[in-house]
Amino acid sequence: MTYLPIISYPNPLLKQRSREVQSITPPIKRFVEDMFETMYAANGVGLAAVQVARPERLLVVDVGKMIDETHEAHPICLVNPEIIKAEGSILFEEGCLSCPDLRIEIERAEHIVIRGLDALGEPKEIEATGLLAIAFQHEMDHLNGKILVDHLSRLKRDSYKRELSRK
Ligand code: ZN
Repeated sequence: MTYLPIISYPNPLLKQRSREVQSITPPIKRFVEDMFETMYAANGVGLAAVQVARPERLLVVDVGKMIDETHEAHPICLVNPEIIKAEGSILFEEGCLSCPDLRIEIERAEHIVIRGLDALGEPKEIEATGLLAIAFQHEMDHLNGKILVDHLSRLKRDSYKRELSRK
């Protein structure tokens, strides 16, 4: 497995809408393994392919260590995912591997149903609530070219950009 470099704001690729994955080939399966490896190494709970500079509709999440005292892994990969139901609302302070040192409270749907293909190409439909629902919605935003900073006011976004450029 390979650790993939994660790109960060303001890389323009992050604003791009990712394209559909045409078929789940052996290289895609290896890519999914690398995505998990990269996400775990970076201590993230989710990662979209575009964050490793591949604008394809593929995401991985694992909120296991946040929801479960046993810290068991709950890895989920979805290819060409779509949210088919969203209900309720929940506020949570989110971070993003592509937006260093930024945490913003964002309102999301509390309960969602998402469907797509798993890493083997099998159709999957997943009901998610709370943190898992938040993680899916955060990664779906990435696939649509939206990132955490887009939830900031222009003023705050500019000051965050300046902060980053000073580093
Ligand atoms: Zn993110």
